[in-house]
Amino acid sequence: MSFDTDVLISGAGAAGLTLAIDLARRGVSFQLIEQNMQPFSGSRGKGIQPRTMEIFEDLCFVDRVAAAGGRYPPLCQYRPDGAHKLSLLTEAEVFPTAEEPYAAPRMLPQFATEAVMRERLAELGHYPRFGTRLTGFEQDPHGVTATVEQDASQQVIRARFLVGTDGGRSFVRHALAIDFPGEALGVRAIVADVRLEGLDRSAWHRFQLGSPATQIMICPLAGTDLFQVQAPVALDGEIDLSAAGLTALIGDRTGRRDITVCSVSWSSVYAMSARLADRYRVGRVFIAGDAAHVHPPTGGQGLNTSVQDAYNLGWKLAAVLAGAPEALLDSYEAERRPIASNMLRLSTRLLGEAKQGTMRRDREARQLDLGYRGSSLNAPGSMGGKVQAGDRAPDAPCRGQAGQPTRLFAVFQGPHWTLLGYQPHNRPSPIAGTRIVTIGEGQELVDDKGHIVAAYGIDPGQWVLVRPDGYIAGIFLSEGLEAQLSCYLARILPPSLAGNRRMNAE
Ligand SMILES: Cc1cc2nc3c(=O)[nH]c(=O)nc-3n(C[C@H](O)[C@H](O)[C@H](O)COP(=O)(O)OP(=O)(O)OC[C@H]3O[C@@H](n4cnc5c(N)ncnc54)[C@H](O)[C@@H]3O)c2cc1C
Repeated sequence: MSFDTDVLISGAGAAGLTLAIDLARRGVSFQLIEQNMQPFSGSRGKGIQPRTMEIFEDLCFVDRVAAAGGRYPPLCQYRPDGAHKLSLLTEAEVFPTAEEPYAAPRMLPQFATEAVMRERLAELGHYPRFGTRLTGFEQDPHGVTATVEQDASQQVIRARFLVGTDGGRSFVRHALAIDFPGEALGVRAIVADVRLEGLDRSAWHRFQLGSPATQIMICPLAGTDLFQVQAPVALDGEIDLSAAGLTALIGDRTGRRDITVCSVSWSSVYAMSARLADRYRVGRVFIAGDAAHVHPPTGGQGLNTSVQDAYNLGWKLAAVLAGAPEALLDSYEAERRPIASNMLRLSTRLLGEAKQGTMRRDREARQLDLGYRGSSLNAPGSMGGKVQAGDRAPDAPCRGQAGQPTRLFAVFQGPHWTLLGYQPHNRPSPIAGTRIVTIGEGQELVDDKGHIVAAYGIDPGQWVLVRPDGYIAGIFLSEGLEAQLSCYLARILPPSLAGNRRMNAE
């Protein structure tokens, strides 16, 4: 049976682009289609959380994102008498540490983030097919037959898997008849990217914060000369989103007639809801990103969660396409759906706080503590002094044996698994697709400042297996290491590789 491609990705937003980049660097064949003729031009998801920055580092474009955007400015909250006070977006100022190199969220309008992602994808030799819409599909035990429409003509694409990264109104989710339970939150809001005069760019200006119906927030968008205007509006009725209409709205809500909107580059009116798909997978078809969860924008979680969905799915699809057991793909929904469920709770709670003008983004919003402790992919009994299976693998600055400064994230970077051995007694035989790195006196890496021990609480002779997406899969002792690894990897690796490993180990 012939296939046009291994993976068809429908929707080239943040989730689709992340999946495409990950598959591209793994050499997996895919097609990325996008119904719009042009890239999305709005600022919407402007907050990149630290965990997403770590993923962008792995995918080799974090510094480009950082350079294109900037830090979040302080909040400037205005009282009705015009007096104002400055405060931070986060509960306290946060700084990078050895374990968490990206401490604070970074600001970059979504159109600019997606532009950086398309650039990275182009470096890997791939491009979204704009103006191409998924209109139907059928699946059988071997693959998916999809119909796409481009320039009013239809084309059939035969793929082994289909992933719907097609946003909150997901065609794929509807076609699979996946339920999307949840609730409308009774809040309608505008978001608009504007050029304006009368406000400085040193702060995120927030007016009428104590008044849920009439508050308005105006944020300078880092890396651009635009401001993002956000405001709740009445549940019904037309909203004038022209420059004159927005100038009048700002004047009415701030009492200031010196703020003038000169032009509007993008705008939208949307009703907030919190919904979570019942399933993320039906057979050979998956949904990821907003297709699987929608929620209020408070807390800056949506784009980030969408990127992380795709990052979780990418390596699993690649492994199964290379022959790994298909059950590996079940762990995608099992791992990601609980994360989205908690994220819905967080963003809804923050919406409540935002209505009262008391919202602060705390550590939970930065997504660094997310993990998969209950996952079936965790090797049983894997407990270290500081971390356990399912936890995010922390970064740690260290030195190479040649004396050069390096970090664990530099060791993890790339599509491989990593096996870290601390002061090991022996070295296991090579495992295809896994980088084995030893740490300690006379080993490859030197923990000269003790950051690795501090972050992992690892003992001499212990081994930490890190998944391609930067989570700990298992912690093993030297005794019986080969047998434990073989047993674990048989569930994850293609049989050819797992079999070779067993032969090497014998
Ligand atoms: C005001 C506002 C502020 C926000 N702020 C933040 C924030 O600070 N941080 C954050 O993380 N998130 C934020 N978000 C949320 C964020 O914008 C979304 O979560 C994110 O865009 C989801 O990405 P996605 O790739 O899943 O979906 P989308 O970005 O919606 O992309 C889906 C793509 O699929 C395409 N498509 C749809 N149907 C088809 C089809 N049949 N065939 C082909 N293509 C199709 C669409 O055209 C679209 O390009 C905010 C949202 C709003 C509204």
